[in-house]
Amino acid sequence: MQRYSTKQRKVMLDYLASHKDESVSASRIAEDLKQSGISKSAVYRNLALLEKEGKLAKSSKEGSRCVYYRYKDAGDCRSHIHLSCQVCGKTYHMASPATENIVSSVEKDSDFSVDRSSSVLYGICGTCRHKVE
Ligand SMILES: [Zn+2]
Ligand SMILES: [Zn+2]
Repeated sequence: MQRYSTKQRKVMLDYLASHKDESVSASRIAEDLKQSGISKSAVYRNLALLEKEGKLAKSSKEGSRCVYYRYKDAGDCRSHIHLSCQVCGKTYHMASPATENIVSSVEKDSDFSVDRSSSVLYGICGTCRHKVE
């Protein structure tokens, strides 16, 4: 068993932080990090660990066995919800007061504390929608 490497972890966190606007598939992460000398198994092991620590949100797309990760520990991501495009995988950070008003009225009405960094609304972004139409 390999020892847990803090250097690998740092490289992975840097990579994920620079892709915080996307949900990146595990296989693409492994492919991109190959150049940094991190093996596929190390990538998968670290992804699982980081998810457990609450730094990553895991998702999947309909009709696909791929697993996608989104870095949710970036800056103020804990204070807003996110929109995720099911076509291109782009993440939109909903930092507007209007969105926060909706979330806080949900909390008030239902006596529920919303985990904003994990909350995602799925749909299709403008760019992808205009391509289809
Ligand atoms: Zn965010
Ligand atoms: Zn899109």
